[in-house]
Amino acid sequence: MVTTTPERAEVPPPLSVPPHEVAPDLLMHRSFVNTYALRTGDGLLLVDPGLLRNARSVHAAVRAWSPAPLHTAVYTHGHVDHAFGLSAFLEAGERPQVVAQERCVQRFHRYRLTHGLNNHINRRQFGNPAITFPEQFVWPTLTFRESLVQHLGGQEVQYHAAKGETDDHCFVWIPARGYLFTGDLIVWVAPNCGNPQKVQRYPLEWAEALERMAALDAEWLFPGHGYVVRGREAVQTVLTETARYLRVIVEQVLARMNAGETPEAIFHAVQPDPVLATRPYLRARYDHPKFIVRNLLRLWGGWWDGNAAHLLPATWEAQAREIAALAGGAAAVVARGRRLLAAGDVKLATHLAEWATRAEPKDAEAQRLKRDVYARRLEEAEALMAQGIFRAAMNDARGALGEAPLPPAGPVTL
Ligand SMILES: [Zn+2]
Repeated sequence: MVTTTPERAEVPPPLSVPPHEVAPDLLMHRSFVNTYALRTGDGLLLVDPGLLRNARSVHAAVRAWSPAPLHTAVYTHGHVDHAFGLSAFLEAGERPQVVAQERCVQRFHRYRLTHGLNNHINRRQFGNPAITFPEQFVWPTLTFRESLVQHLGGQEVQYHAAKGETDDHCFVWIPARGYLFTGDLIVWVAPNCGNPQKVQRYPLEWAEALERMAALDAEWLFPGHGYVVRGREAVQTVLTETARYLRVIVEQVLARMNAGETPEAIFHAVQPDPVLATRPYLRARYDHPKFIVRNLLRLWGGWWDGNAAHLLPATWEAQAREIAALAGGAAAVVARGRRLLAAGDVKLATHLAEWATRAEPKDAEAQRLKRDVYARRLEEAEALMAQGIFRAAMNDARGALGEAPLPPAGPVTL
């Protein structure tokens, strides 16, 4: 049973536990993502079929637990870890209704348009060159814009549209049981709404969705990732504190944007709430609060960063050559970068490494500095989204030096 109260929870949650009945009539299958099957008088409701590679495991677990037909599957959103695990049910001849928010269909069309891009992004994000983004979709058969009510075995099942991590989110509410399925609106890490490589995310609407869910007074909260939460008070705490975490960032960004500050100044100034940031369900282990700031700047402003030289700039390489020439050569830039790295000013050393390698890409000392700088940044980064980019940069330098790439130390998701 993976039920807990926020105070007693540990970080990180175990990646995998065997499928089990986590609440009355509810099976949970966990493998990175949580998949739930609810027993009703009309058959099963499957919330988030999951990853393509887990389709057989989900099907086997559900069928070992219940012989009832699969009546409905719902995608809380169309991400690859939630909406691609139905194939084994379909191969077994089942034909469930597939419910999703209407924007899920647009998402799948976009995935077709940007298949190569999504391969690159996800390989870099997770440090796994073997990742291939799916090209086959099990399309929703029943979509809705705002909300949808279904009656399964005499129980009302409510689907509510939301925006947050995606624009095609929904949460599922079963009032008679007090069951709330949040999808990735709750993920037991700081909200993933700043991801540097992905499309627009919606921090303010995310907070609003959390507050709508808090008003339901649910007894159980079943998240897209991480622990199940039981008890009205614990559910309220997780929902309202996550909303507050987002609002603290949103309010700072808005105030500073309205005051006319530059995007770069805003990026450096805004900080998450220091107390909430330590909660076990709000640690920045996946996304980073500074990336949320960037996402809000993109949402409400243009792409210009406030530096007029960056409007129609010289190439990075031309800038780097000029800096190296001023320093007396790339070797001087490397030497300065080494000193900064040794002194612990890793952020600044990173810029020196980029200037040195862009000025002299074939200079082995410059590439070694770049390799070592990003190895340190990777070591120091808590957020997976930062780790992925730092690792890729480190591996670029390793490649330039003829060294093999280093994969992630832990298990790779997706
Ligand atoms: Zn997810």
